[in-house]
Amino acid sequence: MQGNLFIISAPSGAGKSSLVKAMLEADPQLKLSISYTTRAPRPGEVNGREYHFVSRAQFQAMLERNEFLESAEVYGNWYGTSQVWLQNEMQAGRDIILEIDWQGAAQVRKLFPETVSIFILPPSIEELQKRLAGRNQDSEEVIARRVAAAREDISHALEFDYIVVNDRFEVALQDLLAIVRSLRLNTAKQGQRQAALLASFGIAR
Ligand code: 5GP
Repeated sequence: MQGNLFIISAPSGAGKSSLVKAMLEADPQLKLSISYTTRAPRPGEVNGREYHFVSRAQFQAMLERNEFLESAEVYGNWYGTSQVWLQNEMQAGRDIILEIDWQGAAQVRKLFPETVSIFILPPSIEELQKRLAGRNQDSEEVIARRVAAAREDISHALEFDYIVVNDRFEVALQDLLAIVRSLRLNTAKQGQRQAALLASFGIAR
């Protein structure tokens, strides 16, 4: 049985990474796809954990070999999802999360229309500004640019199947887990998973 494919997108400042991390801890059946990127690692990031960090030439070579299910340029860096890894995991019946931007989401939706896509929103523009102002002393111009980029991402929210607002972290986490659980219970999936039970009631698929 094929696993479910989930896409989670958000503007920066919406709390996506922390939410996805908590989802993976709460639900051991979920697995996160580790993307390839040409972006330099940030302090604390480990190759193979947050991303597979590659050069532009390596990325280009992978692109030419058709190794990406989807790829996109985001804020000047390239990002892509490994096709082979994803196919193997899905065939093994695992539920996969792709943490990708709206451009990648559009490509994956075309290839796999049954993909479930979720967009995470910050609770307000003021809160977004506060989160993007962050810890360090960035200039107002830098912050304004970040907010504008986030608003551009948010303009694609309605293309997604679900919208989760990250006001209170615990509530947003439970919302995300509820979407995952409900997908596993739909009749197409349960028809396969519960085939023996249904057959015992004389129901053949
Ligand atoms: P960051 O560099 O801050 O980790 O990520 C920047 C943006 O790139 C985020 O919106 C993130 O979701 C997106 N992103 C990360 N990996 C991929 C990927 O494999 N494909 C696409 N299309 N976007 C990605």
